[in-house]
Amino acid sequence: DLRPWQRALRAQFPIVTGHPELAYLDSAATAQKPQAVLDAVHTYLTTSNANSARGTYTWANRTTELVERTRERVARFLGDRRPERSTVHFTSGTTEGLRTIGRDWLPGFLRDGDEIVVPVADHQANIVPWLEVQRLLAREGVHVRVVPMPYQSGSGDYDHRALAERAGPRTRFVAVTHVHHVYGGDMNVHRIREAVGPDAVICLDAAQSVGHLPVSVAELDVDFVVFSGHKALALPGSGAVWARQARGPAFVPGGWSGTPNTVGIASLEAALDWLDAAGPDRIERWTADLSTRLTEGLRRLDAYEILGCPLSLAAGTTVQRRRGIVTLRHHAIDSGDLGFILFSHGFMVRSDHHCQGDAGEKTGSVRVSLHVYNTVEEIDRLLSVLASLS
Ligand code: PMP
Repeated sequence: DLRPWQRALRAQFPIVTGHPELAYLDSAATAQKPQAVLDAVHTYLTTSNANSARGTYTWANRTTELVERTRERVARFLGDRRPERSTVHFTSGTTEGLRTIGRDWLPGFLRDGDEIVVPVADHQANIVPWLEVQRLLAREGVHVRVVPMPYQSGSGDYDHRALAERAGPRTRFVAVTHVHHVYGGDMNVHRIREAVGPDAVICLDAAQSVGHLPVSVAELDVDFVVFSGHKALALPGSGAVWARQARGPAFVPGGWSGTPNTVGIASLEAALDWLDAAGPDRIERWTADLSTRLTEGLRRLDAYEILGCPLSLAAGTTVQRRRGIVTLRHHAIDSGDLGFILFSHGFMVRSDHHCQGDAGEKTGSVRVSLHVYNTVEEIDRLLSVLASLS
C-alpha cells in the first residue's frame, strides 16, 4: 500500500497543501517543488552565491563544486555506470538541449546520403531541430533524408517493427521520446536499438520521464538523454544533456564558458536527491495507478475519447499503461471550454494542442497530468465532474 508513503511526500509540497480546494493536474507542463528544493535554493543564495570556476575564495569554490557535483549527480541519476565516459551539459531545458545537439553536434556527424529518423507526432521541440539540421546541411550540398518515425495506429506507441523495415545502414541518427507528452505511455525505447542496429545514435527526449520513472541509460542503450529540471521538481532553467561519447565526434557544446544557472543547478541537485529518496519506481507505480483509475473511469463514459487509446480493442492489443498523462476529448464540448469548466471546480489542467508536431492531433484536447502529490480523491472528484458533463 503506497498511500502512507504518498501522504508523507505530498505533505512536503507547500503549494499543494496550501491550496486544498485546488487540484494541480498539469505536471507535464511543469511540476511543483518540494520544501527540500525551496530550502536548497535559499541555502545556496544565503551561503555560497558566486560565479563558478577560477575563484580563489570559498563561495566561488563552493559554487564550482556544486556544478561539478551536480554533473555527476545527473549521470548517476540516469543510471550511468561509466560516468568517466560521458558528458553532462547544463541547459535551460529540453528545448534548448535538443537544439544544442542539433546545432553543435549533429551537423558534424552526418554525411551526404545519411538518414535521420524524426518522430513527427512528438513534441515540436523534438522535431524542429532535426529538420533545421537537414535544411542547413542542404545549403552546403550535404543531403540528409528524413525518415518519419512510424506510430502504431491508435495505441500511442511507436511502431518498432515498421521502424526496423524503414531503417537501413544509412540510418545514423534517431530522435525518440521516452514518455509521450500527449499519449502518456512509455514508448518502449529499449526496442528502438533492436530496430535501428548498433551504429545509429539514439537521442532521447526524456522531458516526461526523468522524475517520473527510473531512467537508465545502461538499459535503454541511448547516446543522448535530454530533460528539463522544472518538470523534475527543480527550478525552470535547470535542464541537462547527458551524452555518451561512444558514437561519432565528442559532444562539445558552445557557450560552456558563460555563467551557468547556479541557482537552478542547486535546485536540480536537491530535486534529484529528493526523487532518489522517494524512489522513482514507486513514483511511477503511484502515477500509473492513478492514470489507470482515470482511464478506466473515462472508458465508462461515452462522451469522452482518450487520445492514443483505441476505442475498441482488437484481440491481442492491450491499452498502454499511462505514466501520469491522460489526454481526453469530449465529443461535444470544446477543449478550451472544458478546461474552464474544470477550473471552476478547482482542477488545473491543460487544454490546447500541447505543442504536438504537424502530424499530431488537429483538434484540441484536455491533458490531465500527474505527479507524486496527486491523490486518488482528486481523480475520483475529477471523474465525477466529467461524468456530470456526459
Ligand atoms: N519534450 C517533451 C516530450 C515535452 O513534454 C516538453 C515540454 N512540454 C518539451 C520537450 C519541452 O520542454 P521545455 O519547455 O522544458 O524545454
